[in-house]
Amino acid sequence: MNKRLIIAIDGPAGSGKSTVAKRIAVRLGIPYIDTGAMYRALTLRVLQKRISLTDTRALVRLSKTTSIALQGSHPERQRVLLDGADVTREIRTPELTQKVFYVAQVPKVRREMVRKQRTLGEKCGAVMEGRDIGTVVFPDADYKFYLTASSSVRAMRRYRELIQTGHSASRREVLADLKRRDKTDLERKEGPLRRAKDAFWVPTTSLTISQVVDKILQIIRTHSAKNPKVSGSFTLNSV
Ligand code: C5P
Repeated sequence: MNKRLIIAIDGPAGSGKSTVAKRIAVRLGIPYIDTGAMYRALTLRVLQKRISLTDTRALVRLSKTTSIALQGSHPERQRVLLDGADVTREIRTPELTQKVFYVAQVPKVRREMVRKQRTLGEKCGAVMEGRDIGTVVFPDADYKFYLTASSSVRAMRRYRELIQTGHSASRREVLADLKRRDKTDLERKEGPLRRAKDAFWVPTTSLTISQVVDKILQIIRTHSAKNPKVSGSFTLNSV
């Protein structure tokens, strides 16, 4: 069986993962998978069904019966489908963002999400971003990157993103929310945010997105030259 290329990109909220992962996917010509969008979509389903966010059994049941799909081959135009309905914009509201941790902290929900994510990644390979990709979803990924940045820089990025996409937000609230999310992401028992031991650590505080992308592609290029198994499985488009 042909091994598909998997590039795992993990890091806390606002570390630049999504933008970087999308650009890497375009440059390498492989699918982009946003696992955060999947947890967000499931949270939206819980809210739509008026299920209590603390009803663990119901959350697990819903995780098994809900269909979550990422549609569209270009990462920038990818749509998130929840049981067939386009929820791409709805899953990005600050109100929903604050509630995702209820769903993401339930071990059996995570296992179901990991199963779905592996199925997606194994199909065609992927640049997959999240919190536990290099540690849990694809511990044997071909490349692993862990992006970080200071909390103030991450909060500023999130704030700008929210304003640009038409949401209202205050900088102070965005920073407080980010710190809350860091805490729950780091402290949950199953699939906590961790740098895999074999992940490249990429501090992004003083780098532009293009610099981060170039750095990652440079690492991939250097290592694929050393590792014929990997270099044979994909081509770098215009690095
Ligand atoms: O990446 P994003 O900020 O969209 O993720 C939303 C939330 O989903 C995160 O705050 C995190 O709690 C959760 N998540 C997760 N595991 C992943 C991806 C996201 O727990 N692999």
